[in-house]
Amino acid sequence: MPDSNTDKLLLELVACSRCKNPFMMQKGEKLRKQENNEEIVCENCIKLEERKKQLTSSVIESQNIIKTSIKEYEDKLETAETQDTKKIFYEKIKRQSEILSRSVELLKKIEETNDEKYIEEYKQLFEKLKSDTS
Ligand SMILES: [Zn+2]
Repeated sequence: MPDSNTDKLLLELVACSRCKNPFMMQKGEKLRKQENNEEIVCENCIKLEERKKQLTSSVIESQNIIKTSIKEYEDKLETAETQDTKKIFYEKIKRQSEILSRSVELLKKIEETNDEKYIEEYKQLFEKLKSDTS
């Protein structure tokens, strides 16, 4: 039967190396991590990183879709017979290229941020960006 008081003694308060917030860690774990040059990261920062990764991969996935669609419009532009049709495809390419460069900026922001509230904002920006393409 483990004694709950003994369990508590096995934990220690450490500071997260990313957000600087204190959190509980198994005693000895900090020392072990330091010896192995491992980062001491809290649960929140690990979750944030996970959300950043997910958001990044959805942005990249959409970028690929946009790139394919630009390519298709370029092919159509080449074979278009009238000036009016050419203009329509040209405008579509222009618009998609703009969205593509905005998504590149978004990726950079996601990469740089360490704040949960920005991830939510970026997610909304991304949703808006996606709806612009359709
Ligand atoms: Zn943290």
